[in-house]
Amino acid sequence: MIRINEHYLKLQASYLFSDIAKRVAAFQKANPGKDVIKLGIGDVTRPLPAACIQAFHKAVDEMAAAATFRGYGPEQGYDFLREKIAKDDFQARGADIAADEIFVSDGAKCDNGNLQEIFATDITVAIPDPVYPVYLDTNVMAGRTGGFADGRYAGVVYMDCTRDTGFIPELPRKKVDLIYLCFPNNPTGGTITKPQLKQWVDYARGNKAIILFDAAYETFIRDDRLPHSIFEIEGAREVAIEFRSFSKQAGFTGTRCAYTVVPKACTAFTAAGEPRPVHALWHRRHTTKFNGVSYPVQRAAEAVYSPEGRAQCRELIDYYLRNAALIRKEMTALGYECIGGENSPYIWVDGKTDSWKFFDLLLEKANVVCTPGVGFGRCGAGFIRISAFNDHEKVQAAIERIRKTLTVA
Ligand code: PLP
Repeated sequence: MIRINEHYLKLQASYLFSDIAKRVAAFQKANPGKDVIKLGIGDVTRPLPAACIQAFHKAVDEMAAAATFRGYGPEQGYDFLREKIAKDDFQARGADIAADEIFVSDGAKCDNGNLQEIFATDITVAIPDPVYPVYLDTNVMAGRTGGFADGRYAGVVYMDCTRDTGFIPELPRKKVDLIYLCFPNNPTGGTITKPQLKQWVDYARGNKAIILFDAAYETFIRDDRLPHSIFEIEGAREVAIEFRSFSKQAGFTGTRCAYTVVPKACTAFTAAGEPRPVHALWHRRHTTKFNGVSYPVQRAAEAVYSPEGRAQCRELIDYYLRNAALIRKEMTALGYECIGGENSPYIWVDGKTDSWKFFDLLLEKANVVCTPGVGFGRCGAGFIRISAFNDHEKVQAAIERIRKTLTVA
């Protein structure tokens, strides 16, 4: 008898964004004439930078000629891209990362979700609350979390990120093995300083743990004091893995390109306590299960590092940051406490009421879609997340409508 992986039955309802999509669809069906502005899901709206498009076209043309055609590429990514990444994203910031420690992929979501596979199923996992749901759900699927009761999985060490903690996780009191951190944070927009991140690196070193550091929003950092990479912290090479993505940096959400950094010094252990390099395990996994990102897409990603590409990406991110600043300023003026929106495209707003109630109010009265904070975890209750990913005119219109709604509410 074929049997299912019953850990899947422990997953809670559907993915948050499908719940939201259902509510929005129902509202639009009932109100066909209403123009709904979406500031919910973190998807970009601006076109790809011209430098990327140019490189993309050129690479497609290369595929059309026998002399330049390419078939299967290296699963870890072409050297031309890995070398640029290592040099510009890491070495230029003093982080000791080499090209062969970079694994190019089709998404930070897949990498974040898949990486846990190389670790034992009976390790202890620490996950922030609120959280990007992928970290939690993929550990549920792997059978690492235990059952769900009273809003939480029994086997997970939750790291509450609340006003009391400054929206940054505190070091776990219980010993943990695998730690998920995300900065700038989704959903809160919070950031971490170098001394704070150093505490985590020291914890991981002291406890033989590994940190999975999700830096998908690194490109939004404008404050020079903040670390862009965990590898700017001394000692991180032995205990950290970092995820990056071109999705937000260059508008690649529909084009798909990202990468994961696994330093050769990063070590995990066998049950007998023998050290093993994690790089070799991830290399084996990646080359066995992943086919590589298409050649034209990697050429388009490479163009991000050209002088034109760099300037165009900066302009793109500045555009969204301008939206974020407007949302933050207006929500604050309306009397709502906001976190994020600086060095981040997300604004985490204390709605002072139930998250879904506030979501419904904004949908029904302002016709604006946000994301209910409680969907990211128990500590998100009472909050909503507003995303700055939309056209500036739409964000201005949304803010105007929200102001009217909340002023009369
Ligand atoms: N990590 C975080 C924290 C995200 O918010 C997202 C996307 O929203 C991702 C990873 C996914 O990135 P990608 O588009 O590269 O899969």
